[in-house]
Amino acid sequence: MIKIVGGIDLKMSEFEYKTTKDVKVPKRLIDQVIGQEEAVETIKKAAKQKRNVLLIGEPGTGKSMLAQAMAELLPREQLEDILVYPNPEDPNNPKVSVVPAGEGKKIVMNYKRRARAQEEKKNSLMLFLIITIIFMGIITKEFLASIIAAALVFLAMQHIKTKESVQVPKLLVNNENRKKAPFVDATGAHAGALLGDVRHDPYQSGGLGTPAHERVEPGMIHRAHKGVLFIDEISTLKMKTQQELLTAMQEKKYAITGQSETSSGAMVRSEAVPCDFVLVAAGNLDALKGMHPALRSRIRGYGYEVYMRNTMPDTPENRKKLVQFIAQEVKKDGKIPHFDRGAIDEIIREARRRAGKKGMLTLKLRDLGGLIRAAGDVARSENSKLVRREHVIKAKKHARTLEQQIADRYIENRKRYSVFKSKGYEIGRVNGLAVIGDRSGIVLPIAAEAVPSQSKEEGRIIATGKLGKIAKEAVQNVSALIKKYTGRDISNYDIHIQFLQTYEGVEGDSASVSVAAAVISALENIPVDQSVALTGSLSVRGEVLPVGGVTSKIEAAAEAGIKKVLIPKSNYKDVMIEKHYEDKVEIVPVETLGEVLEHVLVGKKKKTLIEKMQKVGSIIPKDMTKAIPH
Ligand code: ADP
Repeated sequence: MIKIVGGIDLKMSEFEYKTTKDVKVPKRLIDQVIGQEEAVETIKKAAKQKRNVLLIGEPGTGKSMLAQAMAELLPREQLEDILVYPNPEDPNNPKVSVVPAGEGKKIVMNYKRRARAQEEKKNSLMLFLIITIIFMGIITKEFLASIIAAALVFLAMQHIKTKESVQVPKLLVNNENRKKAPFVDATGAHAGALLGDVRHDPYQSGGLGTPAHERVEPGMIHRAHKGVLFIDEISTLKMKTQQELLTAMQEKKYAITGQSETSSGAMVRSEAVPCDFVLVAAGNLDALKGMHPALRSRIRGYGYEVYMRNTMPDTPENRKKLVQFIAQEVKKDGKIPHFDRGAIDEIIREARRRAGKKGMLTLKLRDLGGLIRAAGDVARSENSKLVRREHVIKAKKHARTLEQQIADRYIENRKRYSVFKSKGYEIGRVNGLAVIGDRSGIVLPIAAEAVPSQSKEEGRIIATGKLGKIAKEAVQNVSALIKKYTGRDISNYDIHIQFLQTYEGVEGDSASVSVAAAVISALENIPVDQSVALTGSLSVRGEVLPVGGVTSKIEAAAEAGIKKVLIPKSNYKDVMIEKHYEDKVEIVPVETLGEVLEHVLVGKKKKTLIEKMQKVGSIIPKDMTKAIPH
């Protein structure tokens, strides 16, 4: 039995294998998708009925993988090749034809053969005529005339050749030898690449240039014919392009024309080219806002919408799936060794930590895959035949995300300029905790100052920066509590709040407890213990409500030399800090603002405040007030 921080035990007997080498990796891609059961069912159903699918969810949860898996499930018998032919009546309107997959190439070869034969026939005829004329010239001694006649014959034949020679069609979409339906990833494609284009021809006039049909280029919608067209970040497509895409979906065919108006290609417009694809569109929740309403409703009306999962319950079955995931990633990478039990266990533990919620495992598997590869690289660099626990631990240190590196750098800088204080006492200054990026904690010092309001009107709350709004709300929320706890009316004060050196991307919505503590300290002139850091959201009734990212916040505090961290009691179960931080910080779960003040404030006045609070019936549990040290 291995004890896991956070109180969960992992029985190794759950796994009947020694290493990931013994784990079977399913053949079909759809069976390799982990933890997204609803999405998998939907994709299977949609593949059967050829429906469109919209996958909404966070990056790296398997959206593109599902789209690829869908292509595997589509029937391949229906695949077709698409050819584009010259149109003798209207050269700017090339003709299009569709044949069963594999036929296209044969047809083109046939045409080429015929063209070559015709060419040879004409060449020999020309040679015969020229020789005859020159021979006649020698006999009749009309030398000059015969040379001129030969040259005229040469030019006439050349002209006939260009006019009448067999023109070979172009194989626009070739599905010869394709084992499964096409999967085309059109993420980030511009209109031309997506919808097809006609190349510009500088010699367009005068008959010297490349024939129009040869300049027709297929779009991704055409290459996805009878297969899957996948577009991630669908909302980044221009509205006009989304509209065109919708037209293509409705008609199941789309004529190719030059996309650039100034190009000679714009004069060319092919016959409609088939594009009977299934659309798998993806994005995060914000994507819905940028999506053309008609396109969305098309998917809703003729398909399915799925919201991807970020986490799955931490059950033996799901842990097994994670082991399968490790095996898959090892196999896919092809260069890294397999994982032994210790390494598997460490990855599962990391999946728990990254879930950020008690009893859950993360499904942001792209990132976890990154850790698996990094651990594999460490093992390889040490010439180890298997990846072991220590390799994973080392990899965690090396493979820090950009945000984690920013947080590291931030801590370094703050330490250098001693913006952080992890020792001593100070009035109005509190070490808050915040998260940047996905899962990188950061210490966020907050300073508050209260001065009696000069004006007759109400005092103001002055808070600057991106987090200013949060600070104002926090203070307004706690004004009633402050009145109740301290007897002071904050509307008699101008209150200044400053987040010291905040960083772009810092989320501050979990800082309201810290803001309240800083303001009370400033109002009451009671020092704050700088070795304490805190996080939590505050209700108007003074309860400390749960927040996200507690594990990384605690770790950031420990890094910064903080000794005690206050967290919402309801988050206590989510704490899964790395072992080496365990001895560095004390984690204290709190439920009320009263308890928070109890832990962060110091000095004589604190006792008076707490007593006052008790008198007015504060929510501090009685037995806690006994232990006031000062
Ligand atoms: P998305 O499209 O949601 O950003 P991807 O499908 O591109 O994510 O995932 C990237 C990689 O991460 C996949 O190739 C796979 O290795 C791994 N991965 C992500 N989600 C899953 C999942 N649910 N099951 C198995 N592997 C996954």
